[in-house]
Amino acid sequence: MKLIKSNFSYDLLIIGGGISACVFASKYLKNNITKKVALIEIGRGLGGRSSTRISKRFRGWELNHGAPNFNISNSKNNPLLKNYIDELVENKFIKIDDSEIFFLNEDSNLDTIKKSEFSSGVNYLSLDSMSQLSQNIIDSNNLKSKIDFYFETFIVDLKFNDNEWVLTSKDGNKFKSKYIICSTNLLLHKRSLKILNINQIPLRKAIPINNDKKIDLLLNFLDKQSFIPRLTFLIYTNENYSFKDFYNKKQRYFYLKNSLENKYKFERIIFQMQDNNKLGIVVHSRNIEFINNHINAIDENVLKQKIITNFNKLFEDNSVINKLTFDEKFSIMKWRASQPCGVGVPLSLQFISKYRIGFCGDWFEGNGFGRIEGSILSALLLEKKFKI
Ligand SMILES: Cc1cc2nc3c(=O)[nH]c(=O)nc-3n(C[C@H](O)[C@H](O)[C@H](O)COP(=O)(O)OP(=O)(O)OC[C@H]3O[C@@H](n4cnc5c(N)ncnc54)[C@H](O)[C@@H]3O)c2cc1C
Repeated sequence: MKLIKSNFSYDLLIIGGGISACVFASKYLKNNITKKVALIEIGRGLGGRSSTRISKRFRGWELNHGAPNFNISNSKNNPLLKNYIDELVENKFIKIDDSEIFFLNEDSNLDTIKKSEFSSGVNYLSLDSMSQLSQNIIDSNNLKSKIDFYFETFIVDLKFNDNEWVLTSKDGNKFKSKYIICSTNLLLHKRSLKILNINQIPLRKAIPINNDKKIDLLLNFLDKQSFIPRLTFLIYTNENYSFKDFYNKKQRYFYLKNSLENKYKFERIIFQMQDNNKLGIVVHSRNIEFINNHINAIDENVLKQKIITNFNKLFEDNSVINKLTFDEKFSIMKWRASQPCGVGVPLSLQFISKYRIGFCGDWFEGNGFGRIEGSILSALLLEKKFKI
């Protein structure tokens, strides 16, 4: 939606358009079809950290550059989560991911211990891209037309007046609503001070200390939460690049054990087969020293050389992976906050009725903390608590 500076009024405003916001919005609207709802997202589309790079530079490529798939580590004792995942499977939005996962040990050989926080339990793959999964979720039950979407709109200020919330975007537009949902904790966390160049966390400014115990507690918990930065390298391989063997699944994952990760600075490498049969490669790194050295790298070519050299060394004797050449195309995604770490916020602080504000996302406590599992579950739980 294109904006001229104006005021917009809604029953409910949702800040953020990641997977948790999409799950919440689709469930909420199903039961509240007459409510006027808007979703405000700084990015150009839905998906957030579970999204897909659709390159303008390299046409035809769609690489999942955040979460490539997701795992549900435990839904046995959680019918709400289990039923929702079954619903996504029935709707053909996701399927069980039976792609190959390799765990590499110190010598780049296959490890017998096959464990990672991103692969335990049951793994699921979007039938389209990861961005499309968020789209599909919000489109389900044909509810998309019931929401006003404001993309490329960055909320920088929150105000709570007696009867309503007033949200201000960077470009000066005002959004008013009785209820709001924050599916991101940026406006609640101290990292907002640097990012927005302000001297008070926006939620703290809107609701000063000692007005509400739950808000104070929420902000205290978030004060102890930090974030893992990540660099993601996207490699658009040459036409003739392929696996050494015949492999016909959509993705193929390689996880590096700690000592190997320290040596190569790679955490995980995901091969992603494209519709045009080309093979994309996404390399994740969370090595702080490496990231600090390269996050502001002026010469991307130096970085590219290093990545390709390391890749070729890592897979030197591998039976399925071919070496890369130095003329593969390459781009980088820098995630300054890829995943929360430290303390998860208690789910009892998800909805604060006095201030008509709700929260969801992967930053809540539980099995799925820091992962899509936690984002989905927190959105489902919030919808149950949120009665307006
Ligand atoms: C590189 C990487 C790899 C990952 N791998 C995995 C994996 O394998 N498995 C897994 O389960 N999880 C993985 N994760 C984590 C997973 O992506 C997240 O847990 C999940 O996507 C979080 O979804 P969310 O909706 O809670 O938050 P987000 O996706 O962060 O959504 C919040 C949205 O709010 C928007 N926003 C923020 N502030 C504002 C504002 N002020 N105004 C407007 N919009 C705003 C953001 O742009 C964002 O789109 C990975 C993450 C990264 C970055």
